[in-house]
Amino acid sequence: VTDYHRRTTCRCCKNGDLTQVLDLGLMPPANAFLKREDFDAEKRYPLTLAYCRDCALIQVPDVVDPSVLFNSAYAYETGVSVPMVEHFKRYAEEAVFPLVSKDDLVVDIGGNDGTLLSFGHAKVITANNVLAHVDDVVDFLRGVRHLLADDGTFIFEVHWVKDLLDRTGYDQIYHEHLCYFSLYSLTRMLDAAGLEIFDAEIVPMHGRSLRVKACKSRVECVKGATQSYHDILAAELVAGLDKADPYIAFGHRVEAKRHVLRDLLYDLKDGGAVIIGYGAPAKGTTLLNYCGIGPETLDCVVDTSPLKQGRYVPGVHVPVVGPELLDSDRIDYVLLLSWNYADYILEKEKELRDAGTKFILPFPEISVV
Ligand SMILES: [Zn+2]
Repeated sequence: VTDYHRRTTCRCCKNGDLTQVLDLGLMPPANAFLKREDFDAEKRYPLTLAYCRDCALIQVPDVVDPSVLFNSAYAYETGVSVPMVEHFKRYAEEAVFPLVSKDDLVVDIGGNDGTLLSFGHAKVITANNVLAHVDDVVDFLRGVRHLLADDGTFIFEVHWVKDLLDRTGYDQIYHEHLCYFSLYSLTRMLDAAGLEIFDAEIVPMHGRSLRVKACKSRVECVKGATQSYHDILAAELVAGLDKADPYIAFGHRVEAKRHVLRDLLYDLKDGGAVIIGYGAPAKGTTLLNYCGIGPETLDCVVDTSPLKQGRYVPGVHVPVVGPELLDSDRIDYVLLLSWNYADYILEKEKELRDAGTKFILPFPEISVV
C-alpha cells in the first residue's frame, strides 16, 4: 500500500522515542462521506496515538496520503457552521485588527473556503486549525517564518491536548489531525523553526483551543511572554503533560468510555427506542466507528450540509439526511455528535426537546438531557 505509512520517529524532533498510548483500530478517512456505490471500494487505515518521550508531542504516526483524505468526497466547509463564523469574526476583531493598519499585508494559511497566498512579507500571518494537519510541521513553520515581516506576528489556533484529556475526547482523533498540542510541546516546536511564542490564551473552540502568538525569535526581540502564557504552561506542568503518564491513563479511559456509550445505546435500542444522530462532523465518524454504532442502532444522522446529505457516514454507513426529518418523524433519542456546539443546538432544538425527545451528550461525561 503506497497511500499509507507509519512514522517510526517524532514529526517534531525527528529522533524521538514514540510510545503508543491508544489504538483506535482500522478507521476510514473521517470526512469521506460515501455514496452507496462507494461502499465496496472504501479503505480503512490504522489509527493510533503516540507520545514522544523526547519533546512530549502527542501525535498520530499513521500518515494517510493527503490525496486520499482531501479528495472530491471531502465534505467540510467552515462557512456552514454559524458558531464557527461568529468565532472567526471575533478572532479578526480581537486578535488581528489591533496589529495592522490599512496597508499591511495579512496572510491566512489554510483558510479552507478561500486561501490567500502572497509573496510579500506579512505583518500578520494566521493559521487556524492548520498545524495539526501538516506532517512535516517544522518545515511548515520555517515557511511561516520566511513569509513573516521582521516585526510581524504569527497567530494561530490549535485544539488543546489538555481539553482532549480532560473530556476523554477521543473523537477528536482522526487521520487529518496528526498532532495534539500542549503549549509545552508547541514552544519547543516553534523554537526549532526560529519562532518564539510570546502569548497564549484559551478560547472556546472545539471545546478549548489555544490561541497562540509568536514572533521571529532573535536576541533583540525580547518581548517577554505574557502572564497568560506562563499560567497555561504552569497548568500543563501541574497536569504532567510533559510526561507519558497522563496520556497512557487517557488511553485506558477511552476504552472504558466506549463500553459505557455502547451499552447505553444498545439498551435503548433493545427497548424499542428510535435513535438518530445529530451532526455529521468528522469526529462523529471516529466515535461511531470506534464504538461500533451503525445503522442497526442509529436510523440516520441529520446534518445541515448539502455536501453530506444523501451520503453515508464513512465506515459504519449510517445515512445522512437533512434537518427536515426532525419535524416529520418520531424521535426518542438524539445522539449529539456535534457536542462542541451543545449549547447552541440544545437551544435551537428547544421545540423538539419540549415535545419529549432526549439528547445524549457523549462528552465531557456521557449524559442524557
Ligand atoms: Zn519529539
